[in-house]
Amino acid sequence: MSTEASTAARPMLAAGWQTQLKDAIRDLDELLAALELERDDLAALAPASNDFPLLVPRSFVARMRKGDPRDPLLRQVLPLSVEALPVPGFGQDPLAEQQCARDGVLEKYRGRALLITTAACPIHCRYCFRRHFPYGEQNAARNDWADAVERLAGDAGIEEVILSGGDPLSLSNRRLGTLLDRLASLEHLTTLRVHSRYPIVLPARIDAGLLELLRRTRLHVVVVVHCNHAREIDAEVETALAALRRAGAVMMNQSVLLAGVNDSVEALAALSRRLFECGTLPYYLHELDAVAGAAHFDVPHARGVELIGALRASLPGYLVPRLVREAPGAFSKIILA
Ligand SMILES: *Cc1c(COP(=O)(O)O)cnc(C)c1O
Ligand code: SF4
Repeated sequence: MSTEASTAARPMLAAGWQTQLKDAIRDLDELLAALELERDDLAALAPASNDFPLLVPRSFVARMRKGDPRDPLLRQVLPLSVEALPVPGFGQDPLAEQQCARDGVLEKYRGRALLITTAACPIHCRYCFRRHFPYGEQNAARNDWADAVERLAGDAGIEEVILSGGDPLSLSNRRLGTLLDRLASLEHLTTLRVHSRYPIVLPARIDAGLLELLRRTRLHVVVVVHCNHAREIDAEVETALAALRRAGAVMMNQSVLLAGVNDSVEALAALSRRLFECGTLPYYLHELDAVAGAAHFDVPHARGVELIGALRASLPGYLVPRLVREAPGAFSKIILA
């Protein structure tokens, strides 16, 4: 196969993304061995079985520092037994999304509709706010998108469709192609936004077929990647981000403010600068959503505001993300700083 994603300059991509996903690490002891860590190095590890199991691609593990139990990339995927402790205020559906979704379509903000396209993700992030989402009941992919597309067709006020999940790039190019064609046929739609962590955690996903779909659609394409730490971006990720840009996508990033991962001025500034080198601007820095199992990532509100202030004092305005919080029932995300 001759594709942009598998030229001689990128020998690491010899295995296709589906193969890499199948081959991802799902076992804690295997992860620890790959990082030359012992269970004793990590306080209070969770039992191996869990309703939100460990999942991390090997290419992402390769970017972790060996022998460092506090590695910021490792922390994002490491199941800890503290996840099982109930914490007041942390629940199953912190954004009350499960009430406003219909046919896998979430219409929360004017002009934009968010599609829950799949439950599958290339990685399991321990802080994920949809870790308890009932994907079986809410999935726009049902009936080959018919119900979801019909819902969008019935509301001419919607200009932008946001593909979310799970991670929408878990879908095959064929299924995405069908969806994009249906969306492009709705005259009131101008913009397609893709929210994905694949370009960061499994960059082989950005293959020639996907790039062609994005180039071909009449819709304006915005890709919002999800990266929390500068070290998540290696040369292969940089190449994938550049390819998306060349395919015409406007590139932005959203992060979650996470204790022990990126809650310092240095980490956030390095992330913004690294993203900029890759033609990607920081968009949102989310305060952690109060989802059960994620309380150990919480950063106090005042600290987040302080961090943004310090970033603003040292970086150009376009490299300072907006600190936001999602609130049930609000007209937009709440801008905190
Ligand atoms: C975040 C979000 C959007 C998009 O909001 P923007 O501020 O335009 O990025 C749309 N729908 C839902 C349900 C969201 O959570
Ligand atoms: S990739 Fe996104 S949706 Fe999937 S677990 Fe991570 S944060 Fe959640």
